Amino acid sequence: MQPTTAPDTTPRLAARCRYLRVTLGDRPGGNLLNVCKHIIRDGRECVGPFLDEWETTCGFWEGKPAGEH
Ligand code: SF4
Repeated sequence: MQPTTAPDTTPRLAARCRYLRVTLGDRPGGNLLNVCKHIIRDGRECVGPFLDEWETTCGFWEGKPAGEH
């Protein structure tokens, strides 16, 4: 018999993606940039959205490992 795993019900929030890096932009005023570090999208802006409770449709999303903020 094959072992079963529970379906992953973690909300796919862009802000909780393991590939997201938030950096300071180069414009005056300290704007923040949401940069994607996934090998496919490396360096481009994250597709988001960054709204509470709105999940991303990004197919590369992976949740941050437990304990990582
Ligand atoms: S673009 Fe996709 S993979 Fe990259 S940080 Fe955003 S949600 Fe994650």
